[in-house]
Amino acid sequence: MTNDAYIQVEALTKYFPVRKGFFKRVVGQVKAVDGVSFSMRRGETLGIVGESGCGKSTIGRTMIHLLEPTSGSVRFGGQDVGEMLRTDAKSLRRRMQIIFQDPYGSLNPRLTVKEIVGEGVKFHGLARGKKALDSYVADVLVEAGLLPEHRHRYPHEFSGGQRQRICIARAIAVRPEVIVCDEPVSALDVSIQSQVLNTLKDLQERERLTYLFITHDLSVVKFISDRVVIMYLGKMMEIAPTAAIFDNPLHPYAKALLSSIPMPDPTRKTEQVLLEGDIPSPINPPSGCRFHTRCPQAMERCSQSEPPMTDAGEGHGVACFLYGP
Ligand code: SF4
Repeated sequence: MTNDAYIQVEALTKYFPVRKGFFKRVVGQVKAVDGVSFSMRRGETLGIVGESGCGKSTIGRTMIHLLEPTSGSVRFGGQDVGEMLRTDAKSLRRRMQIIFQDPYGSLNPRLTVKEIVGEGVKFHGLARGKKALDSYVADVLVEAGLLPEHRHRYPHEFSGGQRQRICIARAIAVRPEVIVCDEPVSALDVSIQSQVLNTLKDLQERERLTYLFITHDLSVVKFISDRVVIMYLGKMMEIAPTAAIFDNPLHPYAKALLSSIPMPDPTRKTEQVLLEGDIPSPINPPSGCRFHTRCPQAMERCSQSEPPMTDAGEGHGVACFLYGP
């Protein structure tokens, strides 16, 4: 564990039972997240990237204990998050917020924007009295890139980008320290995406927010993240500062994933690596290295034992036998 870790995730695991039959007997486990460890510094953005089903959304929800981990621990400011949930759930819920992908589905259509954004403010006692609440919500809407008068309207009166700004306003209204951003711009037009991402960046600078940013979009992760984790079938394949991941990916899966994005500089040619086969089922993942069934460089040992995360220097970690031990 690093001493300056603000958040420390240690061997985090989340399995979901698979039930079958009339008696709903448990016949297996979906290993959505399987022994994931990383740390985060205060004020940084850690991007989590991978194809759908790799466990990235589950990491976010489990990290803030919206889902209870199967095993492993999360420490936040030196305290165990599970323990914080038992002793002071209210404060934990205020300090760690989440923004979801679907801005419409996560907003109650019967409530005005003021009611939506003001709910947490009232609950946490951040504004007392009607007048104070009204001006508090108006200020938060401006911070999130909306207008004060928007507080009197309903979610259906807004565009997708504006709705996501309402979700951002709701999250920042309670003055959190950490926000899990779960594909927050995936449902938006590309032209709107960068505006919302810029708002998130501005807010982060101003409030010193820490983001766990989950996305399947490599250009989004490149734009927003300080460091990136590449996930495959519930496991971390690689972690590194953003520039290192994009300029010099080490893991064969990371290389394949990144080779699919067009290079802005056509003189720098990267050979496209096409992966064969489908992603295996997380109910019965491959033995050893989970990527061995699709890896172009797989060796005999890769199906027998699991490669540990190896330090490749300068904050670059990779779980592959090509890099040791
Ligand atoms: Fe490929 Fe083996 Fe490395 Fe896994 S450990 S990525 S199978 S070379």
